[in-house]
Amino acid sequence: MGKDAEPGLAERALGALLGVHAGDALGATVEFMPWAEVRSVHPDGVREIVGGGPFGWAAGHATDDTDLTRALILGYRRAGAGGDVVRATGEAMLDWLRGDWPDREPGSRPRDIGGATLDGLTKYGRTGDPRQAGAGRGKAGNGSLMRCLPTALARSTRTARITEAVELSAITHDDPRCTVACAAYVEMVAKLLAGGSPDDAVRAGRSVTLDLECPPVDEAIAFGAHLVPATMAATGQTFLADEGGGYVLDSLSLAVAALCDPRPLVDVLVDIVRLGMDSDTNGAIAGGLLGARDGAAAIPAAWVARLQFAQEFTAAAPELLALRESP
Ligand SMILES: [Mg+2]
Repeated sequence: MGKDAEPGLAERALGALLGVHAGDALGATVEFMPWAEVRSVHPDGVREIVGGGPFGWAAGHATDDTDLTRALILGYRRAGAGGDVVRATGEAMLDWLRGDWPDREPGSRPRDIGGATLDGLTKYGRTGDPRQAGAGRGKAGNGSLMRCLPTALARSTRTARITEAVELSAITHDDPRCTVACAAYVEMVAKLLAGGSPDDAVRAGRSVTLDLECPPVDEAIAFGAHLVPATMAATGQTFLADEGGGYVLDSLSLAVAALCDPRPLVDVLVDIVRLGMDSDTNGAIAGGLLGARDGAAAIPAAWVARLQFAQEFTAAAPELLALRESP
């Protein structure tokens, strides 16, 4: 791609949000399937957004990954300039938990919810303080990493992004592996939004793990940079602790592997989803980095046309970027 064709900030920001949504929707079709089953049912991989999966999703319907990313978007919108985005996001997440959400019966529970998310939000509902919530140490699922991206759009300084990423994760996932993974991921996205290369982004992520003194997250990023998605998808051999089944550092490594893969977004994302297991969440997390890297135009129009919140996310990208101007 020539210099003239490099996507700008607005295009990358939109790509990042739609990348989460598209990766979630693509992966939802094969969620929980082991690699071998994905290979037998979808020999060429899942290449279109068709829905289905264990929860019977309509094509393009948001699962918890996109819904909770939307909760952060709502949190930033509702808090506006100078408001408490952690509390506003916590409230939006409770709305989601309690059924005050598009396409849901009021009072109905989400079809798909992670254990730490449920525990953390239940604790928040009890304490009324988003900074006195969280599922506790030892719960290291990918449920906060999958939703953390909007902070990279909304905040202009590294300090603000890191502080908010940690606090927003800790509403549900307060284990340091989760909070630091979120902060590192947000810094990687911010670097890509600014036009940095994948190598620049990896360095930005690793520098966060140094500052926050969390070697396991640093190792996960470094490890991911050496994984090859096409080889993993062809062999089923991931070398990951939990085989990409929901552990936060597996998902982070896979997302970094995707980011460092020089092929176009579609090819990379299809291979991440082919691994099966927590395929919607792995797809969402990788999709966010790929969308920030390649811009919204890299996501097929036929995919975007099916995404439940495509219009809302398209409107949100410039709104979040505008918040960067506020103190
Ligand atoms: Mg999901």
